[in-house]
Amino acid sequence: MRTQRQIVDYSLQKRALLRDLHNGRIGTLEVCDASPYLRNAARFHGEPTEQRCPVCRRDNLTLVHYIYGDELKQSAGQARKLAELPVLAMTLREFQVFVVEVCQSCAWNHLAEQYRLGRDALHADELERGEAVNSSPSGRHRETGSSSHHREGRR
Ligand SMILES: [Zn+2]
Repeated sequence: MRTQRQIVDYSLQKRALLRDLHNGRIGTLEVCDASPYLRNAARFHGEPTEQRCPVCRRDNLTLVHYIYGDELKQSAGQARKLAELPVLAMTLREFQVFVVEVCQSCAWNHLAEQYRLGRDALHADELERGEAVNSSPSGRHRETGSSSHHREGRR
């Protein structure tokens, strides 16, 4: 999706967790603990993948997309189908997406990634592209045009 931003990838954490699992440092029950809600969400709103479950290898993983944000009101925290996200991204200014991978066979579940979507992101992308030459890589935009002064009294 074009407006995805601030993507946080959790594959390192996942690898560490799986390593602990294979070393016997943690038990299968500790990581295969998907709640009935999560398993239902996977069944009804999940996005099938071609990726085998890293724990039981019996089933392919399903990705569940949870959405959060003030603008969502009572829909915040709900699972949505992947196809619904672009529509929301056009109507809302900003919301957070958490992608959880679930195995419907053994109940393995792990946060795969998170990112932001929304119309604001689209606008910020355009700004980023326009200012990329001059601005520092720390990505401090949004200060332009704001009426607040951050002077901190140090002179
Ligand atoms: Zn599994």
